[in-house]
Amino acid sequence: MFENKTIDENRQGEAIVLEDGNVGSKKLFLESYGCAMNFSDSEIVASILAKDGYSTTNVLEEADVVLVNTCAIRDNAEQRVRQRLKDFKKLKKNNPDMLVGVLGCMAERLKTKFLEEEQIVDMVVGPDSYRDLPNLLSQAEEGHRAVNVLLSKEETYSDIAPVRLSSNGVSAFISITRGCDNMCSFCVVPFTRGRERSRDPKSIVAEARDLFEKGYREITLLGQNVDSYLWSGGGLKKEILTEEQKAASVNFAQLLEMVALVHPDLRVRFSTSHPKDMTDEVLHVIAKYENVCKYVHLPVQSGSSRVLEIMNRGYDREWYLNRIAAIKSIIPDCGISTDVITGFCSETEEEHQETISLMQDVVYDFAYMFFYSERPKTLAERKYEDNIPEEVKKCRLAEVIDVQREHSAIRIKGMVGKTYRVLVEGISKKSDEMMMGRNSQNAVVVFPKENHKKGTYVNVFVDECTSTTLIGKVVV
Ligand code: SF4
Repeated sequence: MFENKTIDENRQGEAIVLEDGNVGSKKLFLESYGCAMNFSDSEIVASILAKDGYSTTNVLEEADVVLVNTCAIRDNAEQRVRQRLKDFKKLKKNNPDMLVGVLGCMAERLKTKFLEEEQIVDMVVGPDSYRDLPNLLSQAEEGHRAVNVLLSKEETYSDIAPVRLSSNGVSAFISITRGCDNMCSFCVVPFTRGRERSRDPKSIVAEARDLFEKGYREITLLGQNVDSYLWSGGGLKKEILTEEQKAASVNFAQLLEMVALVHPDLRVRFSTSHPKDMTDEVLHVIAKYENVCKYVHLPVQSGSSRVLEIMNRGYDREWYLNRIAAIKSIIPDCGISTDVITGFCSETEEEHQETISLMQDVVYDFAYMFFYSERPKTLAERKYEDNIPEEVKKCRLAEVIDVQREHSAIRIKGMVGKTYRVLVEGISKKSDEMMMGRNSQNAVVVFPKENHKKGTYVNVFVDECTSTTLIGKVVV
């Protein structure tokens, strides 16, 4: 039912090629894997290189430069990138001047080791070094292999207007924070994206306004943990602020309200919420503004308090269920999704059953579900043994998936017989005679095309559904 790209930790590597773009004499082929933050970063990269004379292409063979924006969250995401580099190697035989650069989390994780391991690679560039790309490209053009993986405490790219290359012209991402300070024990992100930094709210609101003026009707505010967003002028952390600085700072609830006020026809989504930081203040802003979507992605990871503790998540089962209760009472019609990891270090069968029972309590609309995959340098790798056999991890995962399938069906069937305001995103993938869009709860809705236009709102009465999609008719 949901196709939203959230940015939490469990996401599998997913390749997105930026489509045909701006005009420039040199050709850039840019491919992204992983989370929405990577996709958003690729738009920043395209903007930086557009100023350096590069236009994007989706034809690999005509590229002067190939950049692959990588994900390090799971081993198989990295393996897909390694496989892709083999394709580039073949191509380079016919086009020896073509430069290949690796960007993002895998670049940051492996640093110069990447150059040793993959001879095809000319540049290795970490997520905070994209401004240096023109310089790194010049070095590579002169035959030097170039690396910049310095992490920054300040970089937010807030002054760079991203090039919206593969957008549908209706929905766009806006980054509000970079990095993460949480140190969940299974997660590599704090090591690959550095310390958390919040972006100036004025630049976020200006970007939202600019998108609205260009015809966009939906934005998603992105951060590893949007709830810890805090702008205090100089990017100072909460813990060291004086009372006066705290009073003058902007938190996530306030930022959400500022963005909601840009225009009532601009829908606002956000990702990802963190159970330990999500406040009732945020939930009240969601409830107050019709254009803030009634949808919260709240990763639980496990239903066992002991497992949550060794995951270093900063909350227990009771706290999490309290946050779910707050969502359900403040925003009764809210869509809720989550992330689940099965078979984390030392997880017992009883603890796995606690995850199942938590899912039964919540009844999520959607979940991203994975079995645990140990990542180098994480706290879990250093402190805990990855001692659950793979077949047990997979068996638990299958059980979680079955439960979720049942719940998704319950949730989507519960929307039949109701009327929803739908933002029209374009023609349905399955039929040229149908349009598709989403309701506030992020469910996909299809309806007869008639004269409806992309980027407008329609009210759709839902009279049937498949396992993933609502089907209805436009009503006045
Ligand atoms: S450290 Fe925790 S909160 Fe931060 S990105 Fe990783 S899983 Fe998400």
